[in-house]
This record gives sequence, C-alpha cells and structure tokens, in this order.
Amino acid sequence: MLYTSTRDHGVRVSAAQAIAQGISREGGLFVPESVPALLPRELEALAGMDYIARAEAILVKFLTGEGGGEGWRREEIARCVRAAYENSFPAPGAAPLCALPDGKTFLLELFHGPTCAFKDIALQLLPQLLTAAAKKVLSGREVIILTATSGDTGKAALEGFCDVPGTKIAVFYPSEGVSEMQRLQMVTQEGENVRVIGVRGNFDDAQSGVKAIFGDRALAARMAAAGKVFSSANSINWGRLLPQIVYYISAYCDLLRQGALSGGQALDFVVPTGNFGNILAAYYAKEMGLPVRRLLCASNRNRVLTDFLQSGCYDRRRAFFTTLSPSMDILISSNLERLLWLCSGGDCQAVAGWMAQLAREGCYSVPEALLQKIQSVFAAGDCDDAQTGETIRRVYETQGYLSDTHTAVALHALQVWRGRTGEALPAVVVSTASPFKFAGSVLAAIQPGAVPADPFAAAQALEALSGVPCPAQLKALARKPVRFREICEPKDMKDYILF
Ligand SMILES: *Cc1c(COP(=O)(O)O)cnc(C)c1O
Repeated sequence: MLYTSTRDHGVRVSAAQAIAQGISREGGLFVPESVPALLPRELEALAGMDYIARAEAILVKFLTGEGGGEGWRREEIARCVRAAYENSFPAPGAAPLCALPDGKTFLLELFHGPTCAFKDIALQLLPQLLTAAAKKVLSGREVIILTATSGDTGKAALEGFCDVPGTKIAVFYPSEGVSEMQRLQMVTQEGENVRVIGVRGNFDDAQSGVKAIFGDRALAARMAAAGKVFSSANSINWGRLLPQIVYYISAYCDLLRQGALSGGQALDFVVPTGNFGNILAAYYAKEMGLPVRRLLCASNRNRVLTDFLQSGCYDRRRAFFTTLSPSMDILISSNLERLLWLCSGGDCQAVAGWMAQLAREGCYSVPEALLQKIQSVFAAGDCDDAQTGETIRRVYETQGYLSDTHTAVALHALQVWRGRTGEALPAVVVSTASPFKFAGSVLAAIQPGAVPADPFAAAQALEALSGVPCPAQLKALARKPVRFREICEPKDMKDYILF
C-alpha cells in the first residue's frame, strides 16, 4: 500500500515513510492511496479470532504489498501487535463490548489500558510501528518524540514510548491547564528515556512551542548531525489512526459472535469527538466494507463540528469553552482534512485551498454536493455541561452504567438522535475514558452535595457509592514519587529536548 498527501497527489511514499515522517512536507496529511476491502467472509473469519489476531489481519491490509526494503512482513506486524496488546490490557482484550439493559445500546470500552483512556490503544502500538518504520527508512536513527498535551495524549504517549529502544520522548503540558490526576499521571512517569515539562501558559502555548521546534531548521541540522530525528505522537500521524480502525471492526465481530447482529446487518456508531481522529477511523472501517449505517459525531459546547456537519461551513472564529470533557475542548479538528479528501474523491487542490483559508481567515465552506455526501453518513449532536451531568445520572440510574464525562456527551447525542428520528438500530457508543479519571465531575453528577477537591478522595467516594472498582493504576498514583518538577517559559522549551 502506498500513501499520498491530502494536499499534493504528487506525493507517493511507503507506509513506513508515512509513519516515520508523520506529516507531509507541504503540510498535508498522509492517506492510503486506496482503501483496502474487507469482504463479508473475511469479517466472519475475524469474528472467530481474538483482538490481537484481528488487529494483525487488518494492519496487514494497510502495511504490506509494496515490495522493496520498505515493505512489512506479516511476522513483523504480528510482533508489533503482540508487543502492544499482549500484556497491557486485561482479558478479554483491548476493546470489550458492554451491553446496556435496553438491549440496543452497546458500550465499546476502550479505557482498560495503562492510562485509562482510549488513546492507549493507538499509543501502545504506535511506538512499535514507529521503531519498525525507523529501521526501514531512517537507517535506525534515534527518534525524539515531542508531544504537547492537554492531558490524555501525553500520559498515553509516555507509557507507550517508556524505555522503547531507539526513542526518547519529551511531553510538554500547560502548567495550569491539566487536571491534578492528569498531572500526577505524567510527573510520576517511570522510564529512562522520558521527560515531562510544564509550560507556563495554556495548551496553545505548549502546542505552538512544539511546532516552533519542528520548524527550526538550524536545530534540525544539529539533530541530524547527531544521528537524531524529531517525530510526533499526535493523531496527524497515520500510525495513530490505523490501530483505531481495528476496534470498530472488532466491535462488529463481537456482536456477530454474540448473535446480537446477523451477517450484513448494519449498525450505528456514536463517537465523542475532538480532533476527529477516532470517528475518522470508523469511517475508514465503513469504507473497507464494514456494514455501518450512520456515524454520529458528538461534540461538547465547542460545537464547531456540529455546525460544520449541519451547514458545510467550518468556522473556528468563536469563543473557546473549557468543559467537563476537556479532551474534546478543541476548535481545530485536524483529521477532518482526511475526510474532506476522501469524500471529494481525492481533490487535493480543493483540500489545500480550504486548509489555507482556515489558516488565513479562520473559516471555509464546502460545496453542497460534498456536504450531502458527508451527511449521507455523518450525523451530529452536541451536549453542554449540564446535559453531560444529567446524562451521567440518567444512564447510571436507569441502565446501571457509570460513564465518564466524554462518553456521556456521546450518550446524550444518541438519546437526542433516537428521539428525533424514532430509529432504534443497534448502536455502539465509544466509551473513551474511565469515570475515575474524572471522578469529581462524575461524582457530582450522581450524588448531590459537596465533592472532595482531592482527586483520590473523590475516586474513593465514587468507588464506595457505585461499587465499580477504581483502576489500580490510578489509585497507585497517590504513592508514586514525583520525578519531574520543571516548569519553563514557552520560549525556553528548546532547552529541554537535547537529551
Ligand atoms: C482524545 C479524547 C477524545 C477525542 O478523540 P478525538 O480522536 O480527538 O476525536 C474523546 N474522549 C477522550 C477521553 C479523549 O482522551
């Protein structure tokens, strides 16, 4: 499989090059030239396999078949997948399905990994893919991963890259912009190849600082002379998107196996969305041939995607809100670019034009025909903080399910959608974080009265009230020594990456 850029069809690179490089030189995102097919009989065969075997079979379709020294062998892919999923997730695997008593709603729980959020599924595998790719196309040079985080990505990337030979990782977080639980997860990180630095400022300051480092040519030359290259662990990298396609297919297989669906029957997916990476992976699964009817894109109060999917106009010139679902507080959803490329039939000139307009003016509009094509698959819904809290309480009281604040945004969007359309196809709601990661907000939703400010006390109270066990890795943070205390100014971030 060869990869091209969303902004230049002249670009043709191997899968290894796309993953090692992260982003195309003219600023476009790498996409596979065509979407490989998943035949009904293959889907049935996958239903009989475990998660690791399913992941291997699907990755093979996207990574092999280009020949030459940059191609991937099946055994190599199998080794990467085993290293990612064999020991980091409890039985029955990385993406278990949980049925609600209503009989038509299923939760795809993606938070049972080391950091209790869905980003683990991609970030346990990305380091394996990236080091394998670096051997093929970077002659084994050392890869320095730079990551700016608003909370969940940083910790998941640290866990994924911790002590991975040939890599080092620096994570920059806004010193006042992450929750206490998220901060403790990062500053207690173990491993010899990791660094965690607070940046005085907000997430945008940290992100701009990282972008400035990527764009610093003198620094890049110095790094190259020392045998090192920079790369990124955020979801513009195809190596982060690819592992996410697997769990949509896996969810369908589990429903087939349970008899909840018969072969060929369609279902809906509901995805709490920020950067549009997770839901785009669902669209790739559908394009491969997975029987998906509709993808419901759920946003919090930062409803830039809801407005786009309804009107065809993407407009980031609006107030930014901090919400109870912070990992979805985002106004520039990078991966939408890949959807526009796919739905416009690979019109890279149009895509480049819209992205330039977004950078210049803060908005763009797509033509009616393209909007209709997108709307034939995607529906949208949004949810404010009050609705998030009400949904957590309603679903807990009526269905016995304790959801986190991000998942609640999706559950609310689904309820509104079902009420409006009167439809009740089976729907799979992607459950993206453990409720204990946001214990204070979840506790406040299901119990009237004051909530402890200390995150561990809140988690303990939530555990006692709900009977749901708090993940051991979150509890253990209370006793772990803090290893990283440095806080820097955005302009000094460069000084912290020369390991
Ligand atoms: C990152 C994140 C999301 C949003 O996923 P995108 O791929 O950015 O759309 C949703 N929920 C949680 C808990 C997250 O960490």
